[in-house]
Formats: sequence, C-alpha cells, structure tokens
Amino acid sequence: MNAQLSEMRPLGSVGFGASPLGSVFGSVSESDAVASVLEAFRLGINFFDTSPYYGATLSEKMLGKGLKALGVPRSEYIVSTKCGRYREGFDFSAERVTKSIDESLERLQLDYVDIFQCHDIEFGSLDQVVNETIPALQKLKEAGKIRFIGITGLPLEIFTYLLDRVPPGTVDVILSYCHYSINDSTLEDLLPYLKTKGVGIISASPLAMGLLTEFGPPEWHPASPELKSACQAAAVYCKEKGKNISKLAMQYSLSNKDISTVLVGMNSVKQVEENVAAATELVLFGKDHETLAEVEAILKPVKNQTWPSGIQQS
Ligand code: NAD
Repeated sequence: MNAQLSEMRPLGSVGFGASPLGSVFGSVSESDAVASVLEAFRLGINFFDTSPYYGATLSEKMLGKGLKALGVPRSEYIVSTKCGRYREGFDFSAERVTKSIDESLERLQLDYVDIFQCHDIEFGSLDQVVNETIPALQKLKEAGKIRFIGITGLPLEIFTYLLDRVPPGTVDVILSYCHYSINDSTLEDLLPYLKTKGVGIISASPLAMGLLTEFGPPEWHPASPELKSACQAAAVYCKEKGKNISKLAMQYSLSNKDISTVLVGMNSVKQVEENVAAATELVLFGKDHETLAEVEAILKPVKNQTWPSGIQQS
C-alpha cells in the first residue's frame, strides 16, 4: 500500500480535502467548487477526499462535478470517500455500508473509489467495525468497487485498537485529523507503530479545521475557548509580522516524511494556489524556523490540547 500511496505524492504530499465543498466552512458556489478541483489538478494535486456526511452529500456531488470537468482518464486521480457516518447519524452495519458505496459512486459519477474509509469509528462499536464493517468492505474490494480500505477518527487509540484486531493487510490506510499540526503533534508518537503495521498514513486538517487561519474557525469548531484564543493570537502575531499562519501550518504538517499525505480542506482557487505555493516553497527554501519557533511559544500553553470525540466503548 505504501508504494501505491506514493502515487499521491507529486507535490510533496498535498491532498485535496473536499469537506469545504459541502459548504461545511461557509457557503460555496458550484462554480467555485468545480474551479477549485480543476486548479488543484492543474497544479499537481491528484488525491481528493470526501464523505457522504460532508454537507449531507453535497461535498460528494460537488466533487463528482469537479472530477467530471477534469476530462482526464480515471486512473489519473485518486478518490477517497467514507461510510458509516451520515446526516441521519452513525451506522456501521454491513448492510448500510454496502448500500453506501453505491450511493457514493452515483453522486461522485464514478465506477469505483480508490479508498473507502469507515468514518469516525469512535462513534460506533469498534468491535462491530472489526467483525462486521471491515469484512463487508473486503467484499466490496473483491467486487471491484473499492481498491483500499481505511479507517478514520480523532482519538489515536482507535487505530491501535483496530489494527491489533484485524488480520494483517486488511486495513490499508488510516486517516488521522487535527493531530499533526503546529498546536497538536501527538500523531508523531504513533508513527513507528503505524509503520510496523504497514498502513498508509493520511494526516488531515493541517490548519486544525480553521484554527490556524487568519479567518478563524467555523462556529461548530469543538476546540476550547482557550485553544481558540491562543490560535487567534498566533494568527494575529504572524499577520503583524507580515507572515501567514496557514502557510506556516501547511509547511509544518508537510515536513514529516513518514506521513504519506497531508489533506487540507479547500474551497477556492486562491486557497488551492496558496497551499500549493506553501508546499513548493517548503521544497525550495525549507521551513521558516524563526516564525515557527515564535508561534510554537505562543501555542505552548495549549500544546496537544484536544477535545472529546465519540462514545464510551464497552
Ligand atoms: P483544514 O485544517 O484543512 O482547514 C480547512 C479550513 O481552512 C477551511 O475553512 C478552508 O477553507 C481553510 N483554508 C484552506 N486553505 C487555506 C489558506 N491557504 N488560507 C486560509 N484558509 C485556508 O481542515 P479540514 O478541511 O477539516 O481537513 C481537511 C480534510 O481532511 C477535510 O476536508 C476532509 O476531507 C478530511 N478530514 C477527515 C476527517 C475524518 O475522516 N474524520 C476529519 C477531518 C478532516
């Protein structure tokens, strides 16, 4: 799988997170959504991630339109979507996820997806995911509807729980979010374990779902007021210094070679261009160590602070 995931690394490792195309971070027009996908692909990004949950299926539909507008052979891009989390709630049953892939393929206007991931498994029974969901996804793999199987979620313990219980090679990839950015780098401790398990590693939300942007996070952001205000102070500090916190954050998250892909959510051509420029400049000039150290000092009191996610597992 690692070799296959390397297909996604033409630009260092930037992937296109399509949750903003579901208007999750504010309203996005269809023309902006399609233009963002076109620009991303033109600039070398060939990995796109979505879910039926994002914008209650809107993200998948928008991404489908964008991919169709590319007009290139299907083998030239990699698409990931998810199952088990929907507007109506969570359902990781074999029956639901088996139906889910057909619904997603229709919305995406595709014959197969490359990666199909169990979405936010900490909200379901982890044992059900091991015993029922993953075996159902293996059948979808055999049927040619998906190429790889993944799991996603916030608490890092879910990955060890799952990977210690499924047969080796069953889960191809994990997606962790908000754990490898300037304010929270706890994924780093899990990397050696994940490497021993041979899974591809996708690290999502380098901008901490908007915390590390000048604009700030959306209303629904689950961070504590303390974490939000520390990140805001860091963003203001960067701006006053003539720097951009998002660029700094992208470059921080892209710097770890053990992470296959860094998935950033984008909803405009401008954001695509800025994030690609951040990746390109990282290769050319390296990190801005001075500003990074200053921002890390501002964020030190909240370093590695996270928030609760999921249900108590029995
Ligand atoms: P993110 O940290 O990538 O931040 C996205 C926010 O930053 C959006 O508001 C976006 O418009 C804005 N942004 C992007 N580039 C910017 C720039 N250059 N300047 C200023 N603002 C900019 O958070 P995310 O979108 O939640 O995460 C990325 C992707 O990872 C998602 O879209 C999704 O595909 C995936 N993801 C999956 C899970 C999961 O499976 N549980 C969880 C989180 C994210």
